[in-house]
Amino acid sequence: MKKVFLSMAALAMMFTSCSEEQNAVPQDQSNIDMSDFYVYTDADMDEGSRTANGKSCYTMVNLNRMLNQNPGLEKKMYDIEYNTRRLINGKGKPPGTGGGGNGGGGGSDDVDVLPIDDGMGVINIPVYVHVVYPDANSISNSQIQSQITVLNSDFSSTNVNQLPSGTTFANDATDAGFSFTLAGTFRHNDSRSSWGTNDAVKQAYPPITPETHLNIWVCNIGGGILGYAQFPGGSAATDGIVVGGDYFGVTGGNYGGGRTTTHEIGHYLNLRHIWGDGRCNRDDFVEDTPKSDRSNGGCPTFPTTHCKSADMTMNYMDYTYDACMYMFTDGQRNRMRALFAPGGARASMVGN
Ligand SMILES: [Zn+2]
Repeated sequence: MKKVFLSMAALAMMFTSCSEEQNAVPQDQSNIDMSDFYVYTDADMDEGSRTANGKSCYTMVNLNRMLNQNPGLEKKMYDIEYNTRRLINGKGKPPGTGGGGNGGGGGSDDVDVLPIDDGMGVINIPVYVHVVYPDANSISNSQIQSQITVLNSDFSSTNVNQLPSGTTFANDATDAGFSFTLAGTFRHNDSRSSWGTNDAVKQAYPPITPETHLNIWVCNIGGGILGYAQFPGGSAATDGIVVGGDYFGVTGGNYGGGRTTTHEIGHYLNLRHIWGDGRCNRDDFVEDTPKSDRSNGGCPTFPTTHCKSADMTMNYMDYTYDACMYMFTDGQRNRMRALFAPGGARASMVGN
């Protein structure tokens, strides 16, 4: 596998250096390090511990399944990752790449950049919700709308339960620059009591224009699973996220704050789990999130230390209770937004 990666990297570099000559692209693209990139994880092996942890997202198990079924997916994800790193390295990273001429107040130690400095402004994502239950009216319009409201506050960092200023990580919460609008709700009365994690619900009720809309299926997944997502690069026929109805919108309880959907959309927008789904040397490909070797559950007291540093347990991409997670970082924002730049995996959603 490593040989395949290396040869693809070499090909990609040849290609970009050629186009660089033709188009005079001013960025230095020769230093993109893909050596830490991975696709398969050992998520299949730690299902038990994750369920015991109290929260279960099946996105990585789902990814392993799709990689096994579709040999071409690995290269697609490699290409998306390469493009993401090329874009992020070209803008938004030190030293002095701001370009806006107003970097005087910065002096920060991480990847801090001005909010939404990539010229794309707030990116709106129209959402189709498919409710699939024996009684499809069991998820009310107000419950659906409460989810849209949570997404809009989480992805603009206007949620109220932030860390007090001065606390570690308090200054790392960022406005990711996304908004969400409900474009349609489709209700399907279906007597099936649970749908599992193998996309059966998507096959029964296919996504609608996934090139321009985020499709969310709300159904009973079963097995204590809260939700699962498909990363960019997967088949359009299964693009979107699936969330259990008990965890969709504001329903109360530890996972009833609407943040399962925030977490799954993070995956849909190319974010990995914050601990990298592996040991300390496995990364989430985000520069300003600390390394960790495990998920965190419940509502941890600060600091929770793994891999010699405090975990960012309050990040949406950990497994903590909804009320105890409340932030994306600049680095995560850059990864998500890179998908929407020209040539990006979700660029077709812009302007719709
Ligand atoms: Zn997840």
